[in-house]
Amino acid sequence: MNAPDKQTNNNAILSLLKMALFCKCPKCHEGKIFHSGFFTFELKEKCETCGFDLSRSDSADGPAVFLIFFLGFLLVPLALIVEVKFGWPVWLHVLIWGTLGLILTLGSLKPIKAFVIALQYKYRKSDWDDNPPPRV
Ligand SMILES: [Zn+2]
Repeated sequence: MNAPDKQTNNNAILSLLKMALFCKCPKCHEGKIFHSGFFTFELKEKCETCGFDLSRSDSADGPAVFLIFFLGFLLVPLALIVEVKFGWPVWLHVLIWGTLGLILTLGSLKPIKAFVIALQYKYRKSDWDDNPPPRV
């Protein structure tokens, strides 16, 4: 990969991350893809801006698995470091890390799900077209 291709690829990844952070449509980058509400993780049927059919997306358990790995690698070492340095009681660990894990999970599940959907759209666009080519 030469330098311009690498720069283009980096810009595409940054665009995907920005779109996922704000839970925007992978096609038009404008419409919201989730129903409103902090605890609502259900996708809309279609993009409200471009009419893109979101019902074909299937992120399955991918976002939850990414989140488990990410938060596990973030919170467990932090809890171990705090235990070694400060020796907190167990109830305080449960309270702090449990609360932090819950907040981070609820706050990042939608963006991660939007990122997985954006990746699916980017790399499997033919599956999202009205007349996809037959799979070989
Ligand atoms: Zn759209």
